[in-house]
Amino acid sequence: MRKRLIAKRAELSERLERINANIRRPLDANSTERAQEIEDHDVVDALGNEAREELAKIGAALQRIESGKFGVCTTCGEVVDRRRLEAYAYAKECIECARNGEVSILDS
Ligand SMILES: [Zn+2]
Repeated sequence: MRKRLIAKRAELSERLERINANIRRPLDANSTERAQEIEDHDVVDALGNEAREELAKIGAALQRIESGKFGVCTTCGEVVDRRRLEAYAYAKECIECARNGEVSILDS
């Protein structure tokens, strides 16, 4: 599991670098395509945010592995179902707590 997360992190870092390289490409100030370019940048930016969020989750999961808390729900302390971890390696909560969390967000 640890190896898988580290491999995933490397893959995401690489993707993020490519995205950042795209963002840094200077805009052509005189181009009539400028509006389209800015739009493209927004899309790229959103992709970057997604990758960054995922990286943060993987980092947190790796930290839980280091501290021996991986696979334990951060909310109720129960062991997280193995199938859930296999589908979603950086889940920090068991399925019940994740579901409860979603419900409370919807309620508020
Ligand atoms: Zn729980």
